Amino acid sequence: MGSTIHQLDEKLQDDKAARKDLEETARSLGQKAATAESRAVAAEGDLRIEREWRISLQESMVRDRDKISMLTQEVESLKSIGQKYLALQEEQHVLKTQYSEAQKTLEEVGATLSENKLQLQELLEKEAAQAVADDTPTWTSDKDATACTACTKEFTIARRKHHCRRCGHIFCGACSEKTVALTGNTKPVRVCDACFAEVRLT
Ligand SMILES: [Zn+2]
Ligand SMILES: [Zn+2]
Repeated sequence: MGSTIHQLDEKLQDDKAARKDLEETARSLGQKAATAESRAVAAEGDLRIEREWRISLQESMVRDRDKISMLTQEVESLKSIGQKYLALQEEQHVLKTQYSEAQKTLEEVGATLSENKLQLQELLEKEAAQAVADDTPTWTSDKDATACTACTKEFTIARRKHHCRRCGHIFCGACSEKTVALTGNTKPVRVCDACFAEVRLT
């Protein structure tokens, strides 16, 4: 009987120890669970941060790609501008050459022109001289004339002879009263009535 009580007591002792162990384990498990939960919360936070960071990174990548494409377009346009500039430079060079050639030709033309001008001047002078010569009438000889060419009245000491400076014929004073300015004369000169009428018509 004594041994049975002793055995029961021992078993009770064992149960108590086992229960204590279990309680210990339960407490430790609870702590571990709490730790794990807090870690999980922290990890979730980290994940959220990482996701946000990734999104912002993606956005900045998109922005960078846009910038790059814009810059590429700018570079292309600059290249084409550069090519245009080169083409313009070449064109300018060609134009310069043409300009200097044209200038040379112009100088030659100018020289020819001034030569022609001189020749023309000479020609005009000759012509003018010829015109003056043409205008100079052949004067009727004083001796041959006995009467006025216009009114046919005979010349006397009172009715004297006068040459018309235009036609060169001889008239009485009454038929050659008028004067006109003729080329080759500085002052107006005596002309017959017929010549006066002709000059007035021209
Ligand atoms: Zn007369
Ligand atoms: Zn006359």
